[in-house]
Amino acid sequence: MNQKTKIFSILVILLIGGFSTTSLISYYAAHKTLKVQTEETTLPLTSDNIYSEIQRDLLNPIFISSLMAQDTFMRDWTINGEIESLSIVKYLSEIQKEYNAVTSFFVSDKTKNYYHPKGILKKISKDDPQDRWYFNIKEMKDEYEINVDTDTANRDSINIFINYKVYDYSGNFIGVTGVGLAVHSVKEMIKTYQARYGRRVYFINRQGFINLDSSDRTVSTNIRQEPGMGNIATNILTSPGYKGTYEKSGQTIYLNSRYVPEFDWYLIVEQTENQVEKSIQKTLFFNIILSLLISVIILFLAYLTIGGYQKKLEQMASTDELTGAASRQVFDMICEQSFKVSKRRKESLSAILFDLDKFKKINDDYGHQAGDYVLKIFADKVREEIRESDVLCRWGGDEFFLILSDCDIVQAELIAEKIREKLEKNFISYKGQKIKLTTSIGVTEMGVRDDCESFFKRVDEALYEAKEKGRNKIAAKI
Ligand code: GH3
Ligand code: MG
Repeated sequence: MNQKTKIFSILVILLIGGFSTTSLISYYAAHKTLKVQTEETTLPLTSDNIYSEIQRDLLNPIFISSLMAQDTFMRDWTINGEIESLSIVKYLSEIQKEYNAVTSFFVSDKTKNYYHPKGILKKISKDDPQDRWYFNIKEMKDEYEINVDTDTANRDSINIFINYKVYDYSGNFIGVTGVGLAVHSVKEMIKTYQARYGRRVYFINRQGFINLDSSDRTVSTNIRQEPGMGNIATNILTSPGYKGTYEKSGQTIYLNSRYVPEFDWYLIVEQTENQVEKSIQKTLFFNIILSLLISVIILFLAYLTIGGYQKKLEQMASTDELTGAASRQVFDMICEQSFKVSKRRKESLSAILFDLDKFKKINDDYGHQAGDYVLKIFADKVREEIRESDVLCRWGGDEFFLILSDCDIVQAELIAEKIREKLEKNFISYKGQKIKLTTSIGVTEMGVRDDCESFFKRVDEALYEAKEKGRNKIAAKI
Protein backbone atom coordinates (compact mmCIF):
# COMPACT_ATOMS: atom_id res chain seq x y z
CA MET A 1 0.00 0.00 0.00
CA ASN A 2 1.57 3.31 -0.98
CA GLN A 3 1.72 6.37 1.24
CA LYS A 4 -1.13 8.10 -0.51
CA THR A 5 -3.49 5.13 -0.16
CA LYS A 6 -2.46 4.80 3.46
CA ILE A 7 -3.26 8.44 4.25
CA PHE A 8 -6.55 8.09 2.42
CA SER A 9 -7.53 4.94 4.27
CA ILE A 10 -6.76 6.61 7.59
CA LEU A 11 -8.76 9.67 6.59
CA VAL A 12 -11.73 7.56 5.48
CA ILE A 13 -11.65 5.57 8.72
CA LEU A 14 -11.34 8.73 10.82
CA LEU A 15 -14.09 10.59 9.00
CA ILE A 16 -16.59 7.76 8.68
CA GLY A 17 -15.75 6.44 12.17
CA GLY A 18 -15.85 9.89 13.75
CA PHE A 19 -19.02 11.00 12.05
CA SER A 20 -20.95 7.80 12.61
CA THR A 21 -19.87 7.65 16.25
CA THR A 22 -21.01 11.20 16.96
CA SER A 23 -24.23 10.67 14.98
CA LEU A 24 -25.01 7.49 16.89
CA ILE A 25 -24.12 9.02 20.25
CA SER A 26 -26.40 11.98 19.62
CA TYR A 27 -29.09 9.62 18.33
CA TYR A 28 -29.02 7.55 21.51
CA ALA A 29 -28.84 10.68 23.68
CA ALA A 30 -31.85 12.14 21.86
CA HIS A 31 -33.63 8.81 22.11
CA LYS A 32 -33.09 8.71 25.87
CA THR A 33 -34.08 12.34 26.37
CA LEU A 34 -37.20 11.89 24.28
CA LYS A 35 -38.16 8.77 26.20
CA VAL A 36 -37.82 10.59 29.52
CA GLN A 37 -39.53 13.66 28.12
CA THR A 38 -42.45 11.60 26.81
CA GLU A 39 -42.87 9.75 30.08
CA GLU A 40 -42.27 12.65 32.43
CA THR A 41 -43.54 15.68 30.57
CA THR A 42 -45.42 15.22 27.30
CA LEU A 43 -47.99 12.67 28.36
CA PRO A 44 -48.63 14.17 31.84
CA LEU A 45 -49.05 17.61 30.25
CA THR A 46 -51.56 16.28 27.73
CA SER A 47 -53.43 14.66 30.54
CA ASP A 48 -53.36 17.92 32.57
CA ASN A 49 -54.66 19.91 29.61
CA ILE A 50 -57.54 17.55 29.01
CA TYR A 51 -58.36 17.46 32.69
CA SER A 52 -58.52 21.24 32.98
CA GLU A 53 -60.68 21.33 29.86
CA ILE A 54 -63.06 18.87 31.51
CA GLN A 55 -63.22 21.02 34.60
CA ARG A 56 -63.90 24.10 32.49
CA ASP A 57 -66.70 22.27 30.66
CA LEU A 58 -68.25 21.27 33.94
CA LEU A 59 -68.40 24.79 35.32
CA ASN A 60 -71.29 25.85 33.12
CA PRO A 61 -73.79 23.05 33.88
CA ILE A 62 -72.90 23.16 37.58
CA PHE A 63 -73.48 26.89 37.63
CA ILE A 64 -76.86 26.63 35.85
CA SER A 65 -78.03 23.81 38.11
CA SER A 66 -76.93 25.75 41.18
CA LEU A 67 -78.96 28.79 39.98
CA MET A 68 -82.01 26.55 39.48
CA ALA A 69 -81.63 25.02 42.95
CA GLN A 70 -81.47 28.51 44.50
CA ASP A 71 -84.31 29.90 42.41
CA THR A 72 -87.08 31.29 44.68
CA PHE A 73 -89.77 30.60 42.10
CA MET A 74 -88.98 26.89 42.03
CA ARG A 75 -88.72 26.62 45.80
CA ASP A 76 -91.88 28.70 46.44
CA TRP A 77 -93.83 26.75 43.86
CA THR A 78 -92.81 23.46 45.47
CA ILE A 79 -93.40 24.64 49.03
CA ASN A 80 -96.81 25.99 47.97
CA GLY A 81 -98.02 22.57 46.88
CA GLU A 82 -96.92 22.33 43.21
CA ILE A 83 -100.11 23.96 41.93
CA GLU A 84 -100.23 24.44 38.16
CA SER A 85 -97.53 22.16 36.81
CA LEU A 86 -97.58 24.23 33.62
CA SER A 87 -95.59 27.03 35.24
CA ILE A 88 -92.71 24.75 36.32
CA VAL A 89 -92.78 23.08 32.89
CA LYS A 90 -92.54 26.52 31.29
CA TYR A 91 -89.69 27.42 33.61
CA LEU A 92 -87.76 24.24 32.72
CA SER A 93 -88.40 24.73 29.04
CA GLU A 94 -87.08 28.33 29.26
CA ILE A 95 -83.93 27.08 30.99
CA GLN A 96 -83.42 24.45 28.34
CA LYS A 97 -83.80 26.98 25.54
CA GLU A 98 -81.68 29.67 27.19
CA TYR A 99 -78.72 27.40 27.85
CA ASN A 100 -79.12 25.15 24.84
CA ALA A 101 -79.35 22.20 27.21
CA VAL A 102 -80.11 18.62 26.25
CA THR A 103 -82.63 18.54 29.06
CA SER A 104 -83.63 20.25 32.29
CA PHE A 105 -85.61 18.68 35.09
CA PHE A 106 -87.00 18.90 38.58
CA VAL A 107 -88.06 15.97 40.78
CA SER A 108 -90.22 16.84 43.75
CA ASP A 109 -89.55 14.89 46.89
CA LYS A 110 -93.09 15.33 48.11
CA THR A 111 -95.02 14.20 45.02
CA LYS A 112 -92.14 12.20 43.39
CA ASN A 113 -93.17 13.90 40.11
CA TYR A 114 -90.46 14.08 37.48
CA TYR A 115 -90.98 17.45 35.71
CA HIS A 116 -89.21 18.24 32.46
CA PRO A 117 -89.64 20.78 29.61
CA LYS A 118 -92.48 18.84 28.06
CA GLY A 119 -94.53 18.14 31.17
CA ILE A 120 -94.58 15.50 33.91
CA LEU A 121 -92.53 12.59 32.63
CA LYS A 122 -93.42 10.16 35.36
CA LYS A 123 -93.59 9.49 39.05
CA ILE A 124 -90.35 8.10 40.32
CA SER A 125 -90.36 5.04 42.49
CA LYS A 126 -87.92 3.46 44.91
CA ASP A 127 -88.66 0.12 43.29
CA ASP A 128 -87.64 1.19 39.82
CA PRO A 129 -83.91 0.60 39.31
CA GLN A 130 -83.89 3.42 36.77
CA ASP A 131 -84.85 5.85 39.53
CA ARG A 132 -82.24 4.64 41.98
CA TRP A 133 -80.09 7.70 41.27
CA TYR A 134 -82.65 10.00 42.89
CA PHE A 135 -82.72 8.14 46.19
CA ASN A 136 -78.94 7.92 46.18
CA ILE A 137 -78.63 11.66 45.85
CA LYS A 138 -80.98 12.16 48.75
CA GLU A 139 -78.62 10.15 50.95
CA MET A 140 -75.55 11.88 49.60
CA LYS A 141 -73.64 14.50 51.61
CA ASP A 142 -72.56 16.62 48.64
CA GLU A 143 -74.78 19.32 47.20
CA TYR A 144 -74.63 17.97 43.70
CA GLU A 145 -73.58 15.04 41.62
CA ILE A 146 -72.21 14.81 38.11
CA ASN A 147 -73.24 12.07 35.74
CA VAL A 148 -71.58 11.51 32.42
CA ASP A 149 -73.40 9.91 29.63
CA THR A 150 -71.99 9.09 26.24
CA ASP A 151 -74.59 8.96 23.59
CA THR A 152 -74.14 5.63 21.87
CA ALA A 153 -75.88 6.90 18.78
CA ASN A 154 -73.83 10.06 18.57
CA ARG A 155 -70.25 9.40 19.63
CA ASP A 156 -69.19 12.98 19.14
CA SER A 157 -71.10 14.28 22.10
CA ILE A 158 -70.77 13.60 25.75
CA ASN A 159 -73.65 14.69 27.89
CA ILE A 160 -73.05 15.84 31.38
CA PHE A 161 -75.93 15.76 33.82
CA ILE A 162 -75.83 17.74 37.02
CA ASN A 163 -78.19 16.65 39.77
CA TYR A 164 -78.48 19.45 42.29
CA LYS A 165 -80.27 19.19 45.66
CA VAL A 166 -83.07 21.73 46.37
CA TYR A 167 -83.94 22.88 49.94
CA ASP A 168 -86.74 24.98 51.38
CA TYR A 169 -85.91 28.10 53.38
CA SER A 170 -85.49 26.07 56.57
CA GLY A 171 -82.97 23.74 54.94
CA ASN A 172 -85.29 20.77 54.37
CA PHE A 173 -84.68 18.68 51.28
CA ILE A 174 -87.52 19.19 48.79
CA GLY A 175 -86.24 17.74 45.56
CA VAL A 176 -83.54 17.54 42.89
CA THR A 177 -83.06 19.76 39.86
CA GLY A 178 -80.50 20.13 37.14
CA VAL A 179 -79.60 20.20 33.46
CA GLY A 180 -78.01 17.96 30.95
CA LEU A 181 -75.51 19.67 28.65
CA ALA A 182 -73.62 18.32 25.68
CA VAL A 183 -69.90 19.02 25.83
CA HIS A 184 -68.03 18.95 22.56
CA SER A 185 -64.72 20.42 23.56
CA VAL A 186 -63.32 17.38 25.38
CA LYS A 187 -64.11 15.12 22.49
CA GLU A 188 -62.64 17.60 20.02
CA MET A 189 -59.56 18.04 22.10
CA ILE A 190 -58.77 14.36 22.33
CA LYS A 191 -59.30 14.08 18.58
CA THR A 192 -56.78 16.87 18.04
CA TYR A 193 -54.21 15.08 20.15
CA GLN A 194 -54.78 11.97 18.11
CA ALA A 195 -54.52 13.71 14.75
CA ARG A 196 -51.72 16.15 15.48
CA TYR A 197 -49.43 14.23 17.79
CA GLY A 198 -50.54 10.65 17.22
CA ARG A 199 -51.44 10.36 20.88
CA ARG A 200 -54.34 8.14 21.71
CA VAL A 201 -56.57 9.59 24.42
CA TYR A 202 -59.38 7.60 25.96
CA PHE A 203 -61.49 7.25 29.08
CA ILE A 204 -62.26 4.10 30.96
CA ASN A 205 -64.64 3.56 33.82
CA ARG A 206 -63.71 2.04 37.15
CA GLN A 207 -64.20 -1.46 35.79
CA GLY A 208 -61.80 -0.82 32.92
CA PHE A 209 -64.35 -0.49 30.12
CA ILE A 210 -63.52 2.07 27.45
CA ASN A 211 -66.15 4.85 27.40
CA LEU A 212 -64.71 7.31 24.98
CA ASP A 213 -61.81 6.83 22.60
CA SER A 214 -60.03 9.27 20.33
CA SER A 215 -59.06 6.54 17.92
CA ASP A 216 -62.74 5.85 17.18
CA ARG A 217 -62.33 2.23 18.01
CA THR A 218 -65.03 0.08 19.40
CA VAL A 219 -65.78 1.44 22.78
CA SER A 220 -66.91 -0.70 25.70
CA THR A 221 -64.03 -3.17 25.34
CA ASN A 222 -62.18 -3.70 28.58
CA ILE A 223 -58.55 -2.66 28.85
CA ARG A 224 -57.84 -5.99 30.51
CA GLN A 225 -58.58 -7.55 27.13
CA GLU A 226 -56.47 -5.02 25.20
CA PRO A 227 -53.31 -6.65 23.80
CA GLY A 228 -50.35 -6.23 26.14
CA MET A 229 -52.29 -4.29 28.77
CA GLY A 230 -53.32 -7.17 30.98
CA ASN A 231 -50.40 -6.66 33.32
CA ILE A 232 -50.80 -2.94 33.85
CA ALA A 233 -54.61 -2.77 33.84
CA THR A 234 -54.78 -3.40 37.60
CA ASN A 235 -52.15 -0.73 38.25
CA ILE A 236 -54.18 1.78 36.24
CA LEU A 237 -57.46 0.92 37.93
CA THR A 238 -56.08 1.03 41.46
CA SER A 239 -54.09 4.25 41.47
CA PRO A 240 -55.03 7.89 41.00
CA GLY A 241 -52.16 8.31 38.55
CA TYR A 242 -49.97 5.79 36.74
CA LYS A 243 -47.24 5.99 34.15
CA GLY A 244 -45.58 3.10 32.40
CA THR A 245 -45.09 1.25 29.16
CA TYR A 246 -46.46 -1.85 27.53
CA GLU A 247 -45.68 -3.82 24.41
CA LYS A 248 -48.13 -4.21 21.56
CA SER A 249 -47.33 -5.86 18.23
CA GLY A 250 -43.63 -5.40 18.85
CA GLN A 251 -43.97 -1.72 19.69
CA THR A 252 -43.40 -0.03 22.99
CA ILE A 253 -46.27 2.18 24.06
CA TYR A 254 -45.86 4.89 26.70
CA LEU A 255 -48.93 5.32 28.88
CA ASN A 256 -50.08 7.86 31.41
CA SER A 257 -53.29 7.59 33.38
CA ARG A 258 -55.11 9.76 35.88
CA TYR A 259 -58.32 9.41 37.79
CA VAL A 260 -60.98 12.03 36.97
CA PRO A 261 -63.17 12.16 40.10
CA GLU A 262 -65.85 14.34 38.47
CA PHE A 263 -66.60 11.57 35.95
CA ASP A 264 -65.48 8.67 38.10
CA TRP A 265 -63.44 7.75 35.02
CA TYR A 266 -59.77 7.26 34.25
CA LEU A 267 -58.24 9.42 31.59
CA ILE A 268 -55.53 7.58 29.62
CA VAL A 269 -53.02 9.13 27.22
CA GLU A 270 -50.83 6.88 25.08
CA GLN A 271 -48.06 7.37 22.58
CA THR A 272 -46.25 4.71 20.59
CA GLU A 273 -42.48 4.79 20.69
CA ASN A 274 -42.40 4.76 16.89
CA GLN A 275 -43.98 8.17 16.67
CA VAL A 276 -41.41 9.49 19.13
CA GLU A 277 -38.63 7.77 17.22
CA LYS A 278 -39.60 8.98 13.78
CA SER A 279 -38.41 12.52 14.33
CA ILE A 280 -35.03 11.55 15.77
CA GLN A 281 -34.56 8.90 13.11
CA LYS A 282 -35.12 11.62 10.56
CA THR A 283 -32.42 13.69 12.29
CA LEU A 284 -30.07 10.69 12.33
CA PHE A 285 -30.65 10.10 8.62
CA PHE A 286 -30.05 13.79 7.87
CA ASN A 287 -26.88 13.73 10.00
CA ILE A 288 -25.52 10.71 8.16
CA ILE A 289 -26.22 12.23 4.74
CA LEU A 290 -24.58 15.49 5.84
CA SER A 291 -21.58 13.60 7.28
CA LEU A 292 -21.16 11.64 4.07
CA LEU A 293 -21.32 14.82 2.05
CA ILE A 294 -18.74 16.53 4.26
CA SER A 295 -16.54 13.40 4.14
CA VAL A 296 -16.66 13.33 0.36
CA ILE A 297 -15.75 17.04 0.18
CA ILE A 298 -12.90 16.63 2.70
CA LEU A 299 -11.60 13.53 0.90
CA PHE A 300 -11.76 15.29 -2.43
CA LEU A 301 -9.87 18.31 -1.05
CA ALA A 302 -7.37 15.99 0.62
CA TYR A 303 -6.94 14.14 -2.65
CA LEU A 304 -6.13 17.37 -4.45
CA THR A 305 -3.79 18.57 -1.70
CA ILE A 306 -1.96 15.30 -1.22
CA GLY A 307 -1.72 14.82 -5.00
CA GLY A 308 -0.27 18.33 -5.35
CA TYR A 309 2.23 17.81 -2.58
CA GLN A 310 3.25 14.47 -3.92
CA LYS A 311 3.92 15.96 -7.32
CA LYS A 312 5.98 18.70 -5.73
CA LEU A 313 7.88 16.20 -3.64
CA GLU A 314 8.56 14.10 -6.68
CA GLN A 315 9.87 17.17 -8.45
CA MET A 316 12.00 17.98 -5.50
CA ALA A 317 13.45 14.49 -5.36
CA SER A 318 17.15 14.77 -5.28
CA THR A 319 17.95 11.67 -7.32
CA ASP A 320 17.13 10.88 -10.90
CA GLU A 321 15.30 7.58 -10.77
CA LEU A 322 16.58 6.17 -14.05
CA THR A 323 20.30 6.75 -13.70
CA GLY A 324 20.76 7.23 -9.95
CA ALA A 325 22.61 10.49 -10.68
CA ALA A 326 21.78 13.62 -8.70
CA SER A 327 18.80 15.44 -10.15
CA ARG A 328 18.90 18.87 -11.67
CA GLN A 329 16.82 20.23 -8.79
CA VAL A 330 19.72 19.80 -6.40
CA PHE A 331 22.40 20.93 -8.85
CA ASP A 332 22.44 24.58 -7.65
CA MET A 333 22.84 23.48 -4.07
CA ILE A 334 25.63 21.00 -4.91
CA CYS A 335 27.43 23.45 -7.12
CA GLU A 336 27.35 26.25 -4.54
CA GLN A 337 28.44 23.89 -1.79
CA SER A 338 31.37 22.61 -3.91
CA PHE A 339 32.38 26.19 -4.71
CA LYS A 340 32.39 27.14 -1.02
CA VAL A 341 34.39 24.09 0.06
CA SER A 342 36.95 24.39 -2.75
CA LYS A 343 37.49 28.11 -2.15
CA ARG A 344 37.88 27.59 1.58
CA ARG A 345 40.35 24.76 1.08
CA LYS A 346 41.99 26.64 -1.76
CA GLU A 347 41.54 23.58 -3.94
CA SER A 348 40.81 23.45 -7.65
CA LEU A 349 37.37 22.47 -8.94
CA SER A 350 36.55 21.22 -12.41
CA ALA A 351 33.42 20.39 -14.32
CA ILE A 352 32.70 18.06 -17.18
CA LEU A 353 29.50 18.33 -19.24
CA PHE A 354 28.50 15.34 -21.40
CA ASP A 355 25.95 15.23 -24.16
CA LEU A 356 25.49 11.88 -25.83
CA ASP A 357 25.91 11.90 -29.54
CA LYS A 358 22.96 11.30 -31.78
CA PHE A 359 21.03 9.89 -28.91
CA LYS A 360 17.73 10.50 -30.65
CA LYS A 361 18.81 7.99 -33.23
CA ILE A 362 19.43 5.36 -30.56
CA ASN A 363 15.87 5.90 -29.40
CA ASP A 364 14.65 5.71 -32.95
CA ASP A 365 16.69 2.64 -33.90
CA TYR A 366 16.36 0.55 -30.74
CA GLY A 367 13.36 1.99 -28.97
CA HIS A 368 12.86 4.25 -26.00
CA GLN A 369 13.50 1.46 -23.50
CA ALA A 370 16.86 0.76 -25.06
CA GLY A 371 17.55 4.51 -24.83
CA ASP A 372 16.75 4.39 -21.13
CA TYR A 373 19.08 1.46 -20.69
CA VAL A 374 21.85 3.27 -22.50
CA LEU A 375 21.44 6.32 -20.24
CA LYS A 376 21.73 4.09 -17.19
CA ILE A 377 24.82 2.26 -18.49
CA PHE A 378 26.41 5.56 -19.40
CA ALA A 379 25.96 6.84 -15.84
CA ASP A 380 27.43 3.58 -14.50
CA LYS A 381 30.44 3.87 -16.73
CA VAL A 382 31.08 7.46 -15.65
CA ARG A 383 30.77 6.47 -12.00
CA GLU A 384 33.43 3.78 -12.51
CA GLU A 385 35.92 6.49 -13.36
CA ILE A 386 35.25 9.00 -10.59
CA ARG A 387 35.77 9.31 -6.84
CA GLU A 388 33.17 9.19 -4.06
CA SER A 389 33.49 12.92 -3.54
CA ASP A 390 32.70 13.72 -7.19
CA VAL A 391 29.09 14.41 -8.06
CA LEU A 392 27.36 13.24 -11.20
CA CYS A 393 24.19 15.10 -12.05
CA ARG A 394 21.72 14.38 -14.81
CA TRP A 395 21.28 17.76 -16.30
CA GLY A 396 18.40 16.65 -18.49
CA GLY A 397 17.70 14.32 -21.41
CA ASP A 398 21.05 12.97 -22.47
CA GLU A 399 23.16 15.66 -20.73
CA PHE A 400 25.21 14.89 -17.64
CA PHE A 401 27.14 17.31 -15.46
CA LEU A 402 30.09 16.12 -13.44
CA ILE A 403 31.68 18.18 -10.63
CA LEU A 404 35.17 17.12 -9.70
CA SER A 405 36.50 18.57 -6.49
CA ASP A 406 40.25 18.92 -5.85
CA CYS A 407 40.80 18.40 -9.55
CA ASP A 408 42.35 20.77 -12.10
CA ILE A 409 41.54 20.98 -15.79
CA VAL A 410 44.37 18.69 -16.83
CA GLN A 411 43.18 15.89 -14.58
CA ALA A 412 39.63 16.58 -15.64
CA GLU A 413 40.55 16.24 -19.29
CA LEU A 414 42.24 12.90 -18.52
CA ILE A 415 39.11 11.60 -16.89
CA ALA A 416 37.02 12.87 -19.77
CA GLU A 417 39.26 11.20 -22.27
CA LYS A 418 39.14 7.95 -20.34
CA ILE A 419 35.38 7.95 -20.46
CA ARG A 420 35.21 8.99 -24.08
CA GLU A 421 37.65 6.25 -25.04
CA LYS A 422 35.87 3.63 -23.02
CA LEU A 423 32.60 4.38 -24.78
CA GLU A 424 34.18 4.51 -28.16
CA LYS A 425 35.83 1.13 -27.76
CA ASN A 426 32.87 -0.72 -26.35
CA PHE A 427 29.35 -1.55 -27.35
CA ILE A 428 26.46 -1.53 -25.04
CA SER A 429 24.56 -4.81 -25.23
CA TYR A 430 20.84 -4.61 -25.04
CA LYS A 431 18.63 -7.63 -25.71
CA GLY A 432 21.18 -9.17 -28.02
CA GLN A 433 21.82 -5.93 -29.87
CA LYS A 434 25.05 -4.04 -29.82
CA ILE A 435 24.59 -0.35 -29.44
CA LYS A 436 27.35 2.03 -30.26
CA LEU A 437 27.53 5.08 -28.04
CA THR A 438 29.79 8.11 -28.08
CA THR A 439 29.64 11.37 -26.23
CA SER A 440 30.80 14.92 -26.73
CA ILE A 441 32.45 16.46 -23.72
CA GLY A 442 33.05 20.00 -22.45
CA VAL A 443 35.62 20.58 -19.71
CA THR A 444 36.39 23.63 -17.55
CA GLU A 445 38.01 24.65 -14.26
CA MET A 446 36.72 27.09 -11.66
CA GLY A 447 38.28 30.55 -11.95
CA VAL A 448 38.62 33.13 -9.15
CA ARG A 449 35.79 35.26 -10.40
CA ASP A 450 33.50 32.35 -11.20
CA ASP A 451 30.13 31.65 -9.75
CA CYS A 452 28.00 28.63 -10.58
CA GLU A 453 26.33 30.42 -13.45
CA SER A 454 29.49 31.53 -15.25
CA PHE A 455 31.07 28.14 -14.46
CA PHE A 456 28.25 26.30 -16.14
CA LYS A 457 28.05 28.76 -19.02
CA ARG A 458 31.69 28.10 -19.86
CA VAL A 459 31.51 24.33 -19.69
CA ASP A 460 28.39 24.48 -21.88
CA GLU A 461 30.31 26.54 -24.44
CA ALA A 462 33.10 23.95 -24.33
CA LEU A 463 30.56 21.19 -24.99
CA TYR A 464 29.18 23.16 -27.91
CA GLU A 465 32.68 23.37 -29.31
CA ALA A 466 33.15 19.62 -28.93
CA LYS A 467 29.92 19.01 -30.86
CA GLU A 468 31.06 21.50 -33.47
CA LYS A 469 34.33 19.63 -33.83
CA GLY A 470 32.36 16.69 -35.07
CA ARG A 471 31.15 14.86 -31.90
CA ASN A 472 32.97 12.19 -29.85
CA LYS A 473 35.40 15.00 -29.00
CA ILE A 474 36.56 16.84 -25.93
CA ALA A 475 36.86 20.62 -25.74
CA ALA A 476 38.37 22.40 -22.75
CA LYS A 477 37.85 26.05 -21.86
CA ILE A 478 39.29 28.18 -19.09
P1 GH3 B 1 23.24 15.53 -30.52
O1 GH3 B 1 24.37 14.67 -30.98
O2 GH3 B 1 23.17 16.80 -31.25
O3 GH3 B 1 23.16 15.67 -29.07
O4 GH3 B 1 21.95 14.72 -30.99
P2 GH3 B 1 20.89 14.09 -30.09
O5 GH3 B 1 20.05 13.18 -30.91
O6 GH3 B 1 21.47 13.47 -28.88
O7 GH3 B 1 20.05 15.38 -29.73
P3 GH3 B 1 19.67 15.94 -28.34
O8 GH3 B 1 20.75 15.83 -27.35
O9 GH3 B 1 19.10 17.32 -28.52
O10 GH3 B 1 18.44 14.99 -27.93
C1 GH3 B 1 18.38 14.23 -26.80
C2 GH3 B 1 17.26 13.20 -26.98
O11 GH3 B 1 17.22 12.38 -25.82
C3 GH3 B 1 15.89 13.82 -27.05
C4 GH3 B 1 15.01 12.84 -26.38
O12 GH3 B 1 14.18 12.16 -27.28
C5 GH3 B 1 15.92 11.84 -25.72
N1 GH3 B 1 15.66 11.69 -24.33
C6 GH3 B 1 15.65 12.63 -23.39
N2 GH3 B 1 15.39 12.08 -22.16
C7 GH3 B 1 15.27 10.73 -22.33
C8 GH3 B 1 15.04 9.61 -21.47
O13 GH3 B 1 14.88 9.74 -20.24
N3 GH3 B 1 15.00 8.38 -22.03
C9 GH3 B 1 15.17 8.20 -23.37
N4 GH3 B 1 15.13 6.94 -23.86
N5 GH3 B 1 15.37 9.22 -24.23
C10 GH3 B 1 15.44 10.48 -23.71
MG1 MG C 1 22.64 14.52 -27.51
